Amino acid sequence: MSVRVNKKDNNVNNCKGYFISNNIKDVNINNKVVQKKSVKLLRCIVCPEGCMLFTDYNEIDDRLTKIEGYKCKRGIKFAEEELRNPVRILTTTIGIDSKKINRLPVRSSIPAPKAKIFEMVREAKKIKVKPPIKVGDVLTHNFLNTGVDIISSTTIEE
Ligand code: SF4
Repeated sequence: MSVRVNKKDNNVNNCKGYFISNNIKDVNINNKVVQKKSVKLLRCIVCPEGCMLFTDYNEIDDRLTKIEGYKCKRGIKFAEEELRNPVRILTTTIGIDSKKINRLPVRSSIPAPKAKIFEMVREAKKIKVKPPIKVGDVLTHNFLNTGVDIISSTTIEE
């Protein structure tokens, strides 16, 4: 049995400050890729401490294989979710037909897929609503089929 480790990529990307480095290594055993390893440095954003997390992640079986730098278990959960399916609360504004404000601040009801955030912001710009609107009112259900509702962040009577 031969084990070969290929260092294929060693780039630095800066995605909103959360992913700082990204090294991909494939591990081949008898010409079968058994491990597609991402080595990533993440900033935990769960609390203001902002721990730097040093992680190894196997993309073949979707498994966090190593993590260092966390000060509590929430950091492990954050890293697992960030590597598997990163999500963020979306905050933006939409149009409103009001005498008092031009744009209505809104947010997603639950964290939205990070990969869809820019598309959601773009599409949200096309929405226009009429008052009265209360804080927490659902303005759009299942926005762009993400399972996320868009809700008002404020109350506006007229
Ligand atoms: S690992 Fe724990 S202490 Fe560190 S930033 Fe995350 S939540 Fe805060």
